[in-house]
Amino acid sequence: MPPIKKYLFTPGPAPVPPEVLLEMARPIIHHRTPEFSAALDQARKRMQPLMGTRQEVILLAASGSGAMEAAVTNLLRPGEHAIFVDGGKFGERWGRILSAHGMIGHQIKVEWGRAVRPEQIEDALHANPDARAVFLQASETSTCAVHPVPQIAELTRGRDVMLVVDGITSVGVFEQKMDDWGIDALVTGSQKALMLPPGLAMVALSDRALARAKEVKTPRFYFDLLRELRLQRDDHTTAWTPAVSLVFGLNKSLGMIHAEGLPQVFARHQLMAEAARAAAPALGLKLIAPDNPAPGVTGILTPAGLDGGRVVRHMRDALGVSVQGGQDQMKGKLVRIGHMGYVSPFDMLVAVSALEMALREAGYRDFESGAGLVAVQRRIERGA
Ligand SMILES: *Cc1c(COP(=O)(O)O)cnc(C)c1O
Repeated sequence: MPPIKKYLFTPGPAPVPPEVLLEMARPIIHHRTPEFSAALDQARKRMQPLMGTRQEVILLAASGSGAMEAAVTNLLRPGEHAIFVDGGKFGERWGRILSAHGMIGHQIKVEWGRAVRPEQIEDALHANPDARAVFLQASETSTCAVHPVPQIAELTRGRDVMLVVDGITSVGVFEQKMDDWGIDALVTGSQKALMLPPGLAMVALSDRALARAKEVKTPRFYFDLLRELRLQRDDHTTAWTPAVSLVFGLNKSLGMIHAEGLPQVFARHQLMAEAARAAAPALGLKLIAPDNPAPGVTGILTPAGLDGGRVVRHMRDALGVSVQGGQDQMKGKLVRIGHMGYVSPFDMLVAVSALEMALREAGYRDFESGAGLVAVQRRIERGA
């Protein structure tokens, strides 16, 4: 018998609150209506503080990668140069999107679990004076590490180089100050901290990115950001049929986020992250990103010689607790516990309890049963 109650601690998709599920279960309405326009307007407004911007937030019916691709095709021409930080699967994706559209991507390779150093960006800018943009992740979900976006923005702000940030596991998890830092394009998606199913993406552009998008005529049709912006801002509608139910759901989930209070939401994520991290040393294990861990997902390295995939499968199939393993070079070596959105600090007790049991089942017993749980509980008790 599969477990009756299931827990979703994957770093996307993340759990959706019942209030939001109910909102999305309402009968579908037509999208060219005042009722839909009101929800669209409100959801776009409610997104702004999460992204730290007063710019218009553009909604797209797409997964997060759609907004990443839109940023590339709306801001660069084929043949133009760009720098991208490849510190994991999602950084690598920037490079793949750039080359798919004929741009020349200059890769900064970063060891998995590490943060790019601002000096590396500075060196790449000197080595590639033609680069028109720098692409990176605020939080590289595949390695559970964060990159120092504010320091990097200091380097791009004063140059004719745009900074494009994938905030897909950052927006709604920790503070983003798009305008103050000088991010030119910030993209995110619905299925992480925004407490929604997959299917919506968001992007905001700085004034200089908007000016750039006007000049750049790279072929694009569905993801035409200026067209979307004009329609969403001026006509309170979208260019194409929007993901109507998801937009209503987004408006609801953002209402919940603002009711909790953004500072409280960020503090809760920080507390969950610190609680999850505390389990690692208590179990005799190491973190993949000890120096710059992400607040939305915690990566714990499984012991050498143990099949990490078996740990993840046992947690999901036998215990009903879904986490995610490692990708590529970290396959079988990593357990990633997502703690984004509709998750409470107490949930980390469930995740770590299941992790302990699965580690034992896979043959690793170099810890006292409950040692990780005690560490998690102590951290929760200290509070945010
Ligand atoms: C989830 C995620 C994405 C988007 O992936 P989609 O599958 O297209 O939604 C992109 N970047 C990061 C950092 C992510 O965590």
